[in-house]
Amino acid sequence: MKELIQKLYKENHLEENEILDLLNNINKEDTEDIISKALDTKERVYGKKVFMRGLIEFTNYCKNNCVYCGIRALNRNADRYRLTLEEIMEAAEEGYRLGYRTYVLQGGEDDYFIDDRVVEIINSIKSKFPMCAITLSIGEKSYESYKRFYEAGADRYLLRHEIASKELYDKLHPNMSFENRINCLYNLKEIGYQVGAGFMVGLPGARNEYYAKDLCFIKELKPHMVGIGPFIPQKDTPLGKESKGTLETTILMLALTRLLLPEVLLPATTALGTINPLGREMGLKAGANVVMPNLSPRSVREKYALYDNKICTGDEAAHCRGCIERRINSAGFEVDMGRGDNITWERIK
Ligand code: SAH
Repeated sequence: MKELIQKLYKENHLEENEILDLLNNINKEDTEDIISKALDTKERVYGKKVFMRGLIEFTNYCKNNCVYCGIRALNRNADRYRLTLEEIMEAAEEGYRLGYRTYVLQGGEDDYFIDDRVVEIINSIKSKFPMCAITLSIGEKSYESYKRFYEAGADRYLLRHEIASKELYDKLHPNMSFENRINCLYNLKEIGYQVGAGFMVGLPGARNEYYAKDLCFIKELKPHMVGIGPFIPQKDTPLGKESKGTLETTILMLALTRLLLPEVLLPATTALGTINPLGREMGLKAGANVVMPNLSPRSVREKYALYDNKICTGDEAAHCRGCIERRINSAGFEVDMGRGDNITWERIK
């Protein structure tokens, strides 16, 4: 074990069978060693900085039926909403006043937001705040659509691959295609975005073989960002009675991801903060270096219910901003309100 961990730390690489071997045989001491090496790696690249992104959840309409997700089309109990362009701009303005220089626009796959509307949102934000980075997270689109959004000024795109096992992916995503999702990620990279892939931890049926595949896929794609969070059941979904992913496994996956991709931007996710009150702090101590506080209007926060018991749904954006900063400081890190680009990325015009 010691040799594998040392190799991972020095070479930032392990073969799939080595990762599996590690996951199958790891003990408490090895885990601590991996976490401390991941922290060391993060600090070598990004120092103590933690980047802040303002998250705007602008629609919870979705045409898909991912079986774990609370905003799936078939969930009749979901209380649907869409923000208007004005509401999105108000959230962005509030974020700007609070110091944010990057916005993440996330939503379900909502056909109301045709490409022209997405471009209009990007243009509005970029013309008012040209110095701010825009991240989109609106699911699978054609190459042409991704290209249009990029040309309009979008800088980054988050599209978790969710799970790298095609077999489990297909079970969890009715009428979707694993190949298309992966293809989207490669298209986004080719166009020039900073790309975020990522996966959930503890999905029903998950096992070490799948995590080894997830980590290998990440190593192969080399995304600029990786979103990893525990699966948390949402009561109105087919997985509503399943158990959630664990803190320990999520933290281990964050640490391994940092060691495989030293320069990656790695959020300590809201889901991690939901399964444990100090989950995000623990994530930051295991190699994560991004947090994404919520800028969505309070009236819609609870409605963007991907899973149950989501934290901070009642808080003002300003309150979130202060609370997160205190948490980051108490964990021994510093807030960086800049754009926080991946250090290897440069925009291709
Ligand atoms: N429609 C966009 C955004 C999806 S929501 C897209 O397809 O990319 C953002 C992420 O939330 C998803 O990628 C998924 O990994 C996560 N998520 C959804 N349901 C979840 C649940 N029940 N528990 C934890 N994370 C969940």
